[in-house]
Amino acid sequence: MRKLVILGSTGSIGVNALNVVRHLKDKFNVIGLSAYSNVRLLKEQINEFKPEFVCVGDEKRAEELHRYCGKKVKIFYGNEGLKALASLKPADIVLIAVVGAAGLYPLISAIESGKRIALANKESLVIAGDVITKLFKKHTSAEIIPVDSEHSAIFQCIKNESHRDISRLFITGSGGPFFRKKISPDKITPVQALAHPSWSMGKKITIDSATMMNKGFEVIEAHHLFGIPFDRIKLVIHPQSIVHSMVEFCDGSVLGLLSVPDMRLAIQYGLTYPERYPTKIKLLDLTKINKLEFYQPDYKKFPCLQLALEAARIGGTMPAVLNAVNEVAVHNFLKNKIKFSIIPKVIEKIMKTHKVIKNPVPGEIFEIDTWARRKAEELVC
Ligand code: NAD
Ligand code: MG
Repeated sequence: MRKLVILGSTGSIGVNALNVVRHLKDKFNVIGLSAYSNVRLLKEQINEFKPEFVCVGDEKRAEELHRYCGKKVKIFYGNEGLKALASLKPADIVLIAVVGAAGLYPLISAIESGKRIALANKESLVIAGDVITKLFKKHTSAEIIPVDSEHSAIFQCIKNESHRDISRLFITGSGGPFFRKKISPDKITPVQALAHPSWSMGKKITIDSATMMNKGFEVIEAHHLFGIPFDRIKLVIHPQSIVHSMVEFCDGSVLGLLSVPDMRLAIQYGLTYPERYPTKIKLLDLTKINKLEFYQPDYKKFPCLQLALEAARIGGTMPAVLNAVNEVAVHNFLKNKIKFSIIPKVIEKIMKTHKVIKNPVPGEIFEIDTWARRKAEELVC
């Protein structure tokens, strides 16, 4: 039995991960769960999976849970709590599925504790990819198994290959809800932006998919996970979401991973790697799909994509600014406080005023993150 900690267990990835655990009951023992504010669902999960350790967003919720669980569960809260759960001695695998920059705290802690990390949270790699790469050099027993579907696909395509034989990575993306639509970005509502054509996900990543910021993040994520320079990572729009990404090798051969779009596949592989087990997920029938299409991304229509690649090129603390402002802007768009078209404008404005620190330490990244959030709040309010 693998002892498992799931951080962000009440989210889309977390709930799907618990579905995987239910399906492979005899393989996993859930010893830790975390949620930010959805205490109601967390209580249900505690009753079913009986973890010994639990973390919530703040002290008040921790007290509420303490009254509910009594002494049999150890309750933590906040970022310190996430770090404590990520470094639990008995844990074999830590799934990091919290959303946003908060994922960086448990990621650092899990690496320093030499854990196997199933990583769904991409923002941590966007904001601190170089710091994370350096940490891995120091803590060689730690490892990341990617859970993001594109990166899981690439990971599976290259696992028996030599790194020097990789020539290019092709990251595929559906194009989001507005790929083929002629719609003024001023008029896009949260309901329209949340209607993703192929994936059912948390709200923040669904908006990032609509702006295509998500694909920009995924290029940065791939660069840090696989050590491939940015100019050899290509984005390809693939509306059917069947080919989850591809790798081209020096001889011109291309390997790709195909499946129905269902995150439980990538999550299960991230938790069971290197083993595979049957799932109840619908099988792929290519004859019913008929065609697989591939297009160039439209950088003009999706300025967030351009901004993400620009931040990646500049490096240092710029991707942290990109992410922080994006988080604030998306949050405000979802609350109907700003228009969809304002998201890239706020990001661009604050990126322009930022003085980049070239090789930041984690403390500097968190400081810049706070600075960029404050600036963004000032601009959108
Ligand atoms: P979600 O919003 O559905 O869930 C987020 C989880 O994180 C919840 O459990 C929430 O309680 C917790 N959380 C939120 N803010 C927190 C904070 N400040 N501190 C601690 N916990 C906090 O998000 P999701 O769609 O499950 O995505 C989770 C992560 O996985 C994101 O980084 C996303 O980019 C990545 N990802 C998601 C998918 C997907 O299919 N949903 C696919 C690929 C990658
Ligand atoms: Mg993805």
